[in-house]
Amino acid sequence: MPIIFTCSICKTRLSALRAGALHVSVDKAMAYPGQLAALYAERSAEYGIPVLSASDLTDGPQLTGWHVRCDEHMPETDTYWIGIDGSETEKWLLLLTAHLCEKEWFSDRLEPVPVLHHEMRAGPA
Ligand SMILES: [Zn+2]
Repeated sequence: MPIIFTCSICKTRLSALRAGALHVSVDKAMAYPGQLAALYAERSAEYGIPVLSASDLTDGPQLTGWHVRCDEHMPETDTYWIGIDGSETEKWLLLLTAHLCEKEWFSDRLEPVPVLHHEMRAGPA
């Protein structure tokens, strides 16, 4: 069953007749590691040990995600986008998100926070 996407600005349903796209802000994605590293350095200096709190992770800088826009409201710059024609499924969205996570500019720039990076890569014990 296709997913129904609506533009987050004008609320128009996207379809083959009303073009649009999923997009991610490249600038926000690329800024995230630096923002997280700055918070990590600030907290580590504050407590004298390498640390981030749970609230830092939930309320601090957040990695950006998909946004839905019709062509009229699509940002002209700073965007990585995939067109939508109304036939997209949950499987398509999952595979697309996995593809996004493979992009170096999106998820492989967490090196400034080595402890967190290690924990995220290692997964649960
Ligand atoms: Zn729109």
